[in-house]
Amino acid sequence: MAGTVIVFDFDKTIIDVDSDNWVVDSLGFTEQFERLLPSMPWNTLMDTMMGELHAAGKTLDDVAEVLRRAPIDPRVPAAIRAAYALGCDLRVLSDANAFFIETILEHHGLRGCFTEINTNPSHIDADGRLRIGPYHEFRAGGVTHGCGVGTCPPNMCKGQVLDRILREAASGGRRRRVIYLGDGRGDYCPSLRLAREDFMMPRRGYPVWDLIVEDPARVQAEVHPWADGAEMEATLLGLVRRALVEEAALLPLDCKLESMPVAVQDGMPMPLGVKN
Ligand SMILES: [Mg+2]
Ligand SMILES: [Zn+2]
Repeated sequence: MAGTVIVFDFDKTIIDVDSDNWVVDSLGFTEQFERLLPSMPWNTLMDTMMGELHAAGKTLDDVAEVLRRAPIDPRVPAAIRAAYALGCDLRVLSDANAFFIETILEHHGLRGCFTEINTNPSHIDADGRLRIGPYHEFRAGGVTHGCGVGTCPPNMCKGQVLDRILREAASGGRRRRVIYLGDGRGDYCPSLRLAREDFMMPRRGYPVWDLIVEDPARVQAEVHPWADGAEMEATLLGLVRRALVEEAALLPLDCKLESMPVAVQDGMPMPLGVKN
């Protein structure tokens, strides 16, 4: 695939709320959630909350029904579909979980636009209860992913996942550019790993934006903030088109430098799309 790689955070990026809080609050479990929050990491807490819901008689269908009602700005699905139609390679990178994300993306008919969903694993156990695990295994009090940035939760360093995506973008001929969209503290580590030719799209006024403006020189990628779905759509599609134009402008030069015979350089039309 030749298109630009677009990596989306999920909560407060694709949907307009945090899916974990949305499920807990919508089903009336805010009090239990807040009571347990100081005592365990978020990822463990969500698995525990799924147990609380199950014990109180809430079914997985109840959870799915709530997820399908999660607020989403209609310009966001429009932007995702348009980027997909322009040939982009779309990925999710989220600290939510597989069941929540897939339920919502399928409900909006967006699942097929994404090459992969990188998130915490989930499965339904024999009792019909949703189990949520960590993306990176961790012990109580011990972080094993080894990231030193300091803003990643113990169960997931998004930067390490992005490193793998960046390696994929660099394989097979021309390096594909990467656009990253996110809002949270966990999106800061990957923003530091993007290269100069990549684009970071932080949600303005949210934690990742605050971290970036604290020390803008730490981010090599061009930074393009957005505040709502309309601005995300306009900014994202503008960058996708710009990447397409710049790639097309580079193509003849590359062909000349790398592979085109001398005779072709003298006046013969340059076929577009000969590379990749
Ligand atoms: Mg988020
Ligand atoms: Zn990290």
